[in-house]
Amino acid sequence: MKWAILSTWKMSFQGNLEAAQQLANHASAGDAAVHCIQNVEDNPAFQSVGYGGLPDAEGHTVLDGGFMDGDTLRFGAVGSIEGFRSPVAIARSLKDTPFNNFLVGPGAEVYAREHGFEERDNLTAESLARYQKEKNRNQELYSYDGHDTVCALALDDTGSMCAGVSTSGLFLKKKGRVGDSPVIGSGYYADSKIGAAAATGVGEDIMKGVLSFRAVMYMRNGMSPMEAAETAVRELKTELEHRLGSCNSVSLIVLRNDGRFGIGTTIEFPFVYTAEGENPALYLASPSGDGHTTIRKIEDHSAVTQD
Ligand code: ASP
Repeated sequence: MKWAILSTWKMSFQGNLEAAQQLANHASAGDAAVHCIQNVEDNPAFQSVGYGGLPDAEGHTVLDGGFMDGDTLRFGAVGSIEGFRSPVAIARSLKDTPFNNFLVGPGAEVYAREHGFEERDNLTAESLARYQKEKNRNQELYSYDGHDTVCALALDDTGSMCAGVSTSGLFLKKKGRVGDSPVIGSGYYADSKIGAAAATGVGEDIMKGVLSFRAVMYMRNGMSPMEAAETAVRELKTELEHRLGSCNSVSLIVLRNDGRFGIGTTIEFPFVYTAEGENPALYLASPSGDGHTTIRKIEDHSAVTQD
């Protein structure tokens, strides 16, 4: 079985590369995806995930994470969790119980503490300085820009698939706000019999389209990964423009269970893909006017300005 790993944004390049080496050495999809995501969670240079993530309106770095095992359809998720190193690792462990899979706020923190997950104050001097500089800005004007989720979809050499996500969500979000990222079906979905998908962008719009589940179902019904990703994003954008006048930024990554990928996006969107027999590569996806996505490989990483 050919292995593959697909992840969002340039910030996932190093994690994707290391996870690919693990997959080449027969690591499980779950271990590889979590490794890729933790590399981003631990790097304070990336301002929308984990350590150094964007604070909420009250100046707290509060995180969301989700994980789904494509073999069993088990999932776990945490929302609005503060003071822990790795939301995706906590989410992954929550999938192993029959109930209580999605915990938020203080309940998620009690669970994480009781299960020995590493604690960490994720507010850095840089994220605090940015908060203090911008905390009074008019959100209506800026539509909560400054966010991004690290998502990783992995397929291992036994054919197992998974999806994992981690984010600090929208900058200056209201206390208690949870976006699409930890919400199964919207932020992520994985079924090893079909494929997996995960989303990044404005969660309030991604949830309106339940984008990840939608793309996996489109593949089940015969679409290619590219058609599934493009169609899910195009349909959401068209509907929201028609009904509400606009659609915020939305990007979707899709990986089929044969290792082939697809991307749908409303903006210029960098992503990373590695598969057996291929070197890790950074790509830039762009929406073309007709609802399709054009993709080009980026050799010079400094040419991509978005994290
Ligand atoms: N989807 C995330 C959220 O709404 C943010 C992002 O991916 O840009 O919380």
